[in-house]
Amino acid sequence: MLKYTGYRCSVCDREYASDEVTYTCPVDGGNLDVLLDISDLSRKTSPRDLQASMDFSMWRYLPLLPVDEPAHHGTPLRRVGWTPLYRPPRLAAGLGLKQLWLKDESTNPTASFKDRASALLVVRAAEVGAEVIITASSGNAGAALAGMAAATGQMAVILVPKTAPKPKVAQLRVYGAQVLLVDGNYDAAFDLTIEAANEFGWYCRNTAYNPFTAEGKKTAGLEIWEQVLLKHNLARPLCVFVSVGDGNIIAGIHKAFKDLHALGWLEQMPRLFGVQAEGAAAVAIAYASGVEDIRPVAAQTLADSISVDLPRDGLRALRAATQTVGAYLTVTDDEILAAIRSLGQVGVFVEPAAAAAHAGLVKAAEAGQIQTDDPCLVLLTGAGLKDTQAAIRAAGDAPIIPPTLDGLRTALGL
Ligand SMILES: *Cc1c(COP(=O)(O)O)cnc(C)c1O
Ligand SMILES: [Zn+2]
Repeated sequence: MLKYTGYRCSVCDREYASDEVTYTCPVDGGNLDVLLDISDLSRKTSPRDLQASMDFSMWRYLPLLPVDEPAHHGTPLRRVGWTPLYRPPRLAAGLGLKQLWLKDESTNPTASFKDRASALLVVRAAEVGAEVIITASSGNAGAALAGMAAATGQMAVILVPKTAPKPKVAQLRVYGAQVLLVDGNYDAAFDLTIEAANEFGWYCRNTAYNPFTAEGKKTAGLEIWEQVLLKHNLARPLCVFVSVGDGNIIAGIHKAFKDLHALGWLEQMPRLFGVQAEGAAAVAIAYASGVEDIRPVAAQTLADSISVDLPRDGLRALRAATQTVGAYLTVTDDEILAAIRSLGQVGVFVEPAAAAAHAGLVKAAEAGQIQTDDPCLVLLTGAGLKDTQAAIRAAGDAPIIPPTLDGLRTALGL
């Protein structure tokens, strides 16, 4: 039995049956929301049932996901999600916050948030009988697909802009995917992927274009609900800081909260704060102008995972903030590098795109957009080892000393 009832277009609100469409709205190309059977779900399951699950991965939320139980026990596919939450007291105090959580997505099998979408998509691909999955990626989505495909024996073809960091590309190749570097940007790779999927009959995982990516990403929102909202009786709405490139992560997290609200399991909607790099801020620019018309920019930032000209989930990403009394913020590359250092100093090592979310919180706190009593959560989307060049830029070079105690004394000022 199908676990979802169909789709609704985020642009025109038209609804489609599950067998009527595969990717986007045929009328206007809008991204589709997957519709769950809310009344059936609320009859069959409850927050208590979910909380009782002994599956400490994203799959504990299977009742709320539009796929059936995957096989693949004992593989990395079953280890995605249920990522740790940290409460760093020094970092919170420095920002004047009483309650601060960091959610660390670097513990996912391929070391980024993207595993959540790719795990679900690999399962979905098997359900629709696809032999090959193809995706465009600036690095992490490809690594996630390559890793999950390798874990389950699925064939994956991945198109990456040739400017992607070398360690990221190496990771895809180690997983054994067919990796091709496109002489063009992410947007060019994205368009070619869709053409190839149509031409060769492959299943296209492209972020946001495939309606199931947001469903996988939704699991982080469900975890925030279970790990924070159900545990702590927060007096004020939780402020969640999310870095935004295509906007699919923030849209997926918003979808989680909307599904939970529809089920009657969430009273106080968290506020979603989208953070973009100043040089790749298409959604933040639209937010600041108060319009829903998102125009492409010529993206330029060291945070390669959010360096996007035209966000593929821009509209839903914008609404994630406007519909939850959140906001959009932009941060400079220098602020991102500073955030890498601040997070490092509490034991969390992240890549630039992840640090951007924290830099956004710093900015919001400094600007008084966030008050002492606002509980805040920063989603840290990717591991620091993904981009060692940026880490080197953030940290600088270590001093070289002669191999003597005197050398050590001088260097440490003892
Ligand atoms: C993809 C990615 C993002 C941004 O997600 P979008 O859905 O493109 O907005 C942020 N951080 C990291 C590490 C990513 O890989
Ligand atoms: Zn439409």
